[in-house]
Amino acid sequence: MRMFQLCVCGGPLQAKEQPTPKPTGSEVLLKTLAAGVCHSDLHLADGWFDLGGGKRLSLADRGMKLPVTLGHENVGEVVAVGPDAKGVRIGARMLADPWIGCGACGPCRRGEENLCRAMKSLGVFSNGGYADYIMVPHPRYLFEIGDLPPERVAPLACSGVTTFGALKKVPTLKAEPTVIIGGLGLMCLALHQKMGGHSAIVVDIDPAKRKAAKAAGAAHVIDGGAADAAQQIIDLTQGGAWAVIDLVGSSQSARVGYDSLIKGGKYVIVGLFGGDITVSLPPIPMRALTIQGSYVGSVPEMTELMELIRRTGPPEVPVATKQLDDVNAVMADLRAGKIIGRVVLTP
Ligand SMILES: [Zn+2]
Ligand SMILES: [Zn+2]
Repeated sequence: MRMFQLCVCGGPLQAKEQPTPKPTGSEVLLKTLAAGVCHSDLHLADGWFDLGGGKRLSLADRGMKLPVTLGHENVGEVVAVGPDAKGVRIGARMLADPWIGCGACGPCRRGEENLCRAMKSLGVFSNGGYADYIMVPHPRYLFEIGDLPPERVAPLACSGVTTFGALKKVPTLKAEPTVIIGGLGLMCLALHQKMGGHSAIVVDIDPAKRKAAKAAGAAHVIDGGAADAAQQIIDLTQGGAWAVIDLVGSSQSARVGYDSLIKGGKYVIVGLFGGDITVSLPPIPMRALTIQGSYVGSVPEMTELMELIRRTGPPEVPVATKQLDDVNAVMADLRAGKIIGRVVLTP
């Protein structure tokens, strides 16, 4: 089988050939049909996150071992199953939930594998879908997609469940406008609508992305680079936002998001762009503010998301398909901010 692996942080992915593995135990082997390219692949390829103030978080310190095949948004067809893999049939087309935990720690036993302390995520800590085949350790991470187009479903594995998990943390979703800052904005906007959200205010520094958000149904769009961006949100919401979902997570976006909150408001940070902000402490209790992080999604959240998608169809997010061989060029375009919506690779 062919695979594209990260061998050296900072370098391009390298094409490799290896024997196709055979599933053992509860493993399921998928033939890759679609593999989404995600912004976090850029961080993985770099090997670090910017913590602000000149500090870095190294992925090697977090357990990433090279070489590893990237690709964590995968749909494939079941081609072989281990003797203990029950309930999957050969030929079924499945979305693979990549957020796989150890199965033994507290969060894993509570169903929050996305908070596991020893994650084995596909395409991060174990081989992912930039390859002809992908091995999934257990059928419980597989979700049948039926006749839905693989390239429309693949982005749900990260972009979809990540924004779904963040939207689930907004108690005022149906009652008040939700502010969505950048990044996965179109996916978040589409799921916000499917979940019955009141209205969305989308903030982005890129005019093309603001235009796309407006066309996709955002009630208002705001230039995140404007000096008065937070004030514009406060004006539009008559006093401040009840909920901000920050899909960028930069010093600039955090400043805008946090500063636009109303009393009792919640700032949910999802994006991993990097940086830092300084926050005065007394207003947090006095204004009863919540700052909450949200990291990908749990298996129960993926299950709930897939039920929503089977009922209502895949999110209306622009998806471009490219050949797997073009993976390095696609990642360069993503880094340059040239991509609106998602790109999905097909082998
Ligand atoms: Zn991702
Ligand atoms: Zn665990």
